[in-house]
Amino acid sequence: MYRAFYRKYRPSTFTSVVGQEHITKTLENAVKSGKTSHAYLFTGSRGTGKTSCAKILSKAVNCLNPIDGNPCNECEICRGIDNGAILDIIEIDAASNNGGAEQAETNFNYALLAMLEGNTTDAAAFLGKAAGVEQLAEAQALLNIQNGEYAKAIENFGNTVSNNAALAQILAKDYNAASNTLANVANPDATTYYLKAVIAARTNDEGAAKANLRQAIALDNNYAARATADKEFAKFDLSNL
Ligand SMILES: [Zn+2]
Repeated sequence: MYRAFYRKYRPSTFTSVVGQEHITKTLENAVKSGKTSHAYLFTGSRGTGKTSCAKILSKAVNCLNPIDGNPCNECEICRGIDNGAILDIIEIDAASNNGGAEQAETNFNYALLAMLEGNTTDAAAFLGKAAGVEQLAEAQALLNIQNGEYAKAIENFGNTVSNNAALAQILAKDYNAASNTLANVANPDATTYYLKAVIAARTNDEGAAKANLRQAIALDNNYAARATADKEFAKFDLSNL
C-alpha cells in the first residue's frame, strides 16, 4: 500500500518524537500510571508534532500491550488505528472544518484533538463536546484549567455547580468556595467525594480525607489505586482505608 512520505516517517512512539520531550514524557507517564485526562488539546505551529503526539496517545491509551506508556504498534488496536480501520479514532483538521465540534460528539473513550491552526473558541467547543459539556463558557473553562488559568476558569464557570467548577476552585486554592460547590452538587459521584478528600488533605483534616476517600472508592473502585498514587494523600497511611 502506498504511504505518503510524512505518514511513513511519522514517529510511532513517544520516545521517537524529536524535540518535545516535556510533552512526550508527560504523556508517557500519564499512560503508564493510568492517569490520563478525558481530553487533550495539542496546539502549536506547523510541524511541531501535534498530530504525531495525538496519534501515539490514541494508540497508547487503547493498546492491548502497551510498553512503558508507549503503544506496541503491533496489536490489532494499534494496527487498526494506523490503517484507519478503527472508526472511534477520528482525525479532524480544525483549520479546514468549520463546525467540526459536532463531529466530536461520538462515543469514543478518549478524545484526541490535534488543533491545526484552529482558534481558541473552536478548541473550547471541541473540548466541551468531548467532555460532555454543552455550554461554551464551561468548555472554555475546561480549556482554562488545562492551560493553568484558574481565575479565568472560575470566571467562565460562573454559577455552575459541578465537580469541574469545584476543581477550578481547588486549583485556585479557594477551598471554602470549592467545599460549598461540592456540597451543592446535585448527584454527588465518586469524583465529588474524591475532590472533597483532596480539600480535606490540603487543609490537613486526615479524618475527613479518609472518610471521603472511602466513599469515593465505594462508588468507584478505581479510586483506590488512584488515591495511593496521588501525591495529595502521600502524607497519610492509606493501607487500611
Ligand atoms: Zn498495541
